[in-house]
Amino acid sequence: MSSFYVTTPIYYVNAAPHLGHAYTTIAADVLARHHRQRGDDVFFLTGTDEHGEPVADAAHALGVEPQELADRNSERFRALAPKIAASNDFFIRTTDPEHMLVVQDVLSRVHENGHVYMGTYEGWYCPKCADFKAENEVDEGELCPIHHVKLTREQEDNYFFALSRFQEPLERLYAEHEDFVAPRSRYNEALSFIKSGLRDVPLTRHKLTWGVPVPWDPEHVFYVWFDALLNYYSALSYAPARALQGVPAQEKAAVVGVENRDAPRARGGHAVSQTLTDTFWPADVHLIAKDILRFHTVYWPALLMGAEIELPKRVFVHGYLLMDGEKMSKSLGNVLDPFEVIERFGSHALRFYLLRDVPFGQDGSVSTASFEQRYESELANDYGNLASRSIAMILRYRDGVVTGGEPDELLREDFAGLPELVASLLDRVELTNALDQVWQRVRRLNRYVEEQAPWQLAKDPERAADLDRVLCTLAEGLRVVSVLLHPYLPDATEKLLDALDAPDLAFDGAAFGEGEIRFAQKLEPLFPKSQ
Ligand SMILES: [Zn+2]
Repeated sequence: MSSFYVTTPIYYVNAAPHLGHAYTTIAADVLARHHRQRGDDVFFLTGTDEHGEPVADAAHALGVEPQELADRNSERFRALAPKIAASNDFFIRTTDPEHMLVVQDVLSRVHENGHVYMGTYEGWYCPKCADFKAENEVDEGELCPIHHVKLTREQEDNYFFALSRFQEPLERLYAEHEDFVAPRSRYNEALSFIKSGLRDVPLTRHKLTWGVPVPWDPEHVFYVWFDALLNYYSALSYAPARALQGVPAQEKAAVVGVENRDAPRARGGHAVSQTLTDTFWPADVHLIAKDILRFHTVYWPALLMGAEIELPKRVFVHGYLLMDGEKMSKSLGNVLDPFEVIERFGSHALRFYLLRDVPFGQDGSVSTASFEQRYESELANDYGNLASRSIAMILRYRDGVVTGGEPDELLREDFAGLPELVASLLDRVELTNALDQVWQRVRRLNRYVEEQAPWQLAKDPERAADLDRVLCTLAEGLRVVSVLLHPYLPDATEKLLDALDAPDLAFDGAAFGEGEIRFAQKLEPLFPKSQ
């Protein structure tokens, strides 16, 4: 059995969840569900990033303790996951004591390995990014290019991570692993940043207290970014899901409650099992948005090298969902509320739309108008209506019994190699291309109905065998596209597969002609008109 470990970034708790967070989590969920269908042992991690100055400042402004604010806001992100049908195996919080111990452990190792020294840092600092800006990143008027707020000139005595020392090892990593970062444009961007000359970076903050204390100098806390990055590694050391690995997702959900949020959290200091780490580290895919590219493609691998920990296999960088041409972000105030979309149309429609409308990896515009158009023309018509009318004909003409023998040769060629193609696209995290390949077959099935006109065949008793063949072909085609669409549309595909009495989601049964559908039963509209 192969293993597959996919992560989202952990989301920063000083904002409410917005569509951008949902986007990354949905994408990770599609990969996780796909690999479960392939029979892989899957671990899917998401969670919240809770330390650092922005949280401390926001809590101060509200007159509450940072932990209280973190608890409150973390809960909103935890609540988002089941709403978008995310099947994460664990939800990590960087205030988990187990995580904090791993941070201290790993960063002490980096220190002991001689990659940390005391120095003075001076530079332009954005309190919202919780990050210093290089001179060439400062917008006119000393503004943050992302947040458009005034940057402050800060000077601090901090421990530094000797990033510059990892320039050569990183260049070698990029030369030897050309898919370490994808898409290619992001690989080039990261590599050119490395080649422009790496400078050492602060590893700790002196004036802050809201963070993980530095074990060798408790007057400092670790810089929030290094604390956060280590979540991908620390989570495996204490996530409680081991006993449930290998259990099918549906049964697992029944055991631990929809997305594990009710699972007891492992407690008890540092006595951790190595099993999950052994099985799943290094991560197969870190999914991130492009604004955190540098941390994940430069600092993160360098840090792991400094701690002598194996590197993740790939960082996939997706683009921004744009509304009115600007990045969707709470701090810019142009938020499309995913909860509202879900309430009107359901989570599966949102999942489909986000991965269908904007090529995954690129920037793209999203809007209510294009959402409604895709919902109507593709989900309700191409797929939903194809399913309803095919099943209705099987019921009307054959009392629900499917007896066509072999599906039509006409479609075999159109479907040949489809599962292999989808799997290879998803292995490259080409979520939109994989979806489009399946959708072309959904459209092919629609054309097939028109070409064959089963309602004509039904009028002619001499052509009963042809009608049987057409109905059988439609049922088999629907089964195949539904198995392949399942990671994108988990609810709708399961309903349809149940109606075809073919609930098996296994990927190795996804080839056209592998199914044996014997009967069909009534199906409620999969994508009804919205209220
Ligand atoms: Zn900023």
